[in-house]
Amino acid sequence: IHESNPMKTINDEIFVYVTKKQKEIDELKKLELFRREFLADVSHEFKTPIFAAQGFIHTLLDGAMDDENVRERFLIKAANNLDSLDVLVKDLLVLSQMETGDIKMNLMPVDIRLLTMNIFERLENIASDRNVTLKVKPDDLSEVWVNADLDRIEQVMLNLIENAIKYGNEGGKVIVHFNESKKQVEVSVRDNGPGIPQEHLNRIFERFYRVDKSRSKERGGTGLGLAIVKHIINAHDTKIAVMSKPDKGTTFSFKLDKVVTNNAPAELPEQTV
Ligand code: ADP
Repeated sequence: IHESNPMKTINDEIFVYVTKKQKEIDELKKLELFRREFLADVSHEFKTPIFAAQGFIHTLLDGAMDDENVRERFLIKAANNLDSLDVLVKDLLVLSQMETGDIKMNLMPVDIRLLTMNIFERLENIASDRNVTLKVKPDDLSEVWVNADLDRIEQVMLNLIENAIKYGNEGGKVIVHFNESKKQVEVSVRDNGPGIPQEHLNRIFERFYRVDKSRSKERGGTGLGLAIVKHIINAHDTKIAVMSKPDKGTTFSFKLDKVVTNNAPAELPEQTV
């Protein structure tokens, strides 16, 4: 037989209710702080290219236009800054769509080896500027089929390979490995650059986090690339890992599900008796 005390039950219920509400308030406060920090970061990131473009254009209007050499140089600089702004806005849009869950994943069979080769072609210019060799391994594979959202996984590979070229060594190597197991393929993007110091490793996926701010800006980085990569990989129900050793290089890797095929040959071989 249980003795019940109605007052105690009511007190318990009130306690549970208040604790729950307090948790909700704390959560809202955290979100509000996050939102304010984000706005401050975004405004700061916008200011840099806007101020720079403004500066060049105003200097031209104030008389520098008369000098033909200066005119072209300053116009190119203004245009470059506006291009950076354009990239930043695009990256921010992708990120905000991913963060609000506004993203429909469109899974389909993707030959990730072919996709990688296409990205190598697109990045040929910046790779040859830095004298970087691009390779896939093993090199005797012809196709590697995974289940993925084509456009988004393309964005992931583009960001990782571009980073490996930009932050790896001049004259270095970037190798994309495909490591197949029964059900999955592990994709890794490896460079032999200076690496990322240990204390930065778990922060590089945060938006606007850069290990070397001036180097990132000099190479046209928005600081959003890896944040986007992480969101896309998580939306594929998997995780991105990073390993880095000073002066040995950095490897980013993730696993994707293989496409399951019924590899029944179209024509069965004739039986010999
Ligand atoms: P960014 O636009 O600055 O390239 P990312 O989010 O793509 O932004 O990367 C964040 C930071 O991580 C970079 O600024 C760079 O310092 C560091 N980083 C990314 N990839 C590499 C790499 N392969 N080797 C060394 N550092 C890297």
